[in-house]
Amino acid sequence: MLRIPLLEDLPPVAGKRVLVRVDFNVPIETSSDGTRVVSDDFRIRAALPTINWLLERGAEVSVCTHLGRPGGKPDPKFDVSPIREVFSTLAPKVSILENLRFNPGEEANDPAFLEELIAGFDMYVNDAFGVCHRNHASVVGPPTRLPSAAGRLVEKEVEVLGHLITEPKSPFVVILGGAKVADKLGLIRSLVAHADKVLLGGGMACTFMAAAGIGVGASLKDIAHEDDCRRILSEYPGKIVLPVDSAVLLGNGSVEVVKGPIPMTGKILDIGPETCEVFDQAIQDAETIFWNGPMGMFEDDRFSSGTYSVARSLAQCEGFTVVGGGDSVAALDSAGLSGNIGFLSTGGGAALQLLETGDLPGLVALRQSMMRSLEV
Ligand code: ADP
Ligand code: MG
Repeated sequence: MLRIPLLEDLPPVAGKRVLVRVDFNVPIETSSDGTRVVSDDFRIRAALPTINWLLERGAEVSVCTHLGRPGGKPDPKFDVSPIREVFSTLAPKVSILENLRFNPGEEANDPAFLEELIAGFDMYVNDAFGVCHRNHASVVGPPTRLPSAAGRLVEKEVEVLGHLITEPKSPFVVILGGAKVADKLGLIRSLVAHADKVLLGGGMACTFMAAAGIGVGASLKDIAHEDDCRRILSEYPGKIVLPVDSAVLLGNGSVEVVKGPIPMTGKILDIGPETCEVFDQAIQDAETIFWNGPMGMFEDDRFSSGTYSVARSLAQCEGFTVVGGGDSVAALDSAGLSGNIGFLSTGGGAALQLLETGDLPGLVALRQSMMRSLEV
């Protein structure tokens, strides 16, 4: 993994004005009287180690974030006032700028907006891993102008995810699920090269099953990508492990566990109990495990047992466990098992892109700022 500049690599910060890009895109609820309140302040608290590191060394700190999708114009439904309310009690000395996405220049990476954003600042810190895959002004712009570094959250994500694609302790087992195979093909291609085994579940496993010649009935199948799946299966014989049984919703509305070909009207909506056993064995034998994507339509109780079984297997496993993805982390949370996982990535799309491509625009920008500072 290529190195990125860290807080320790910044010039002395005492008396300097530092702009920190944070990810305070938190859930907000509107109460009956119309006031908007932050319903989960986890992301705000998570930024404190970086902010406090800077404050303890005498820096003057401002933070900036996006919130929701206001579409490039000011909108009171998306202003940062509920965040400011919480943040001012956690970090009273730190100011917070208005929602970055109120300006169309943020998402368009407009140089004029960048000038406006960095005016008056001496340094920049990126602690918003979840947007590091975006070519947005506040992510890739400031490192072209100011001494820059990654904050603690970005540092940790890059360290853990980078480890998976550079020197994972073997056996390295990857579990992938989720609905759409098209979203995850690049990720599968990258991870299958590093992993000893890739266990597939969820809707995306259906296209792989079809490619392997197993009839999947009326299941979610992506015909356009069946050839890609077939190619991956033949390129890595034995590495990809497909479900051996499935929970199937039949045409008459009943649910049945099916082994082998699925009836024409049947839809695979979860992995079956035997598959859970096979996956558990592989997980318990692993030293390194990465999981992304539920094993079925887990929002429906009839199809949640495969996902919860994998969650329990990971929680019991002695190896180093990493979980990424909004729905996978939500499943762990609702099972009360998050505390038993080695590392929960908050990165979503950024985490998957880092695992797929080995780098991210936001990290490239930080590295370029480091190269520039070495030149002068
Ligand atoms: P993550 O957020 O963890 O990255 P994804 O967003 O890729 O996961 O996938 C989660 C979604 O996939 C869930 O909404 C789930 O209901 C859906 N899903 C999983 N398996 C199936 C299936 N067999 N059929 C239909 N939808 C599925
Ligand atoms: Mg999702």
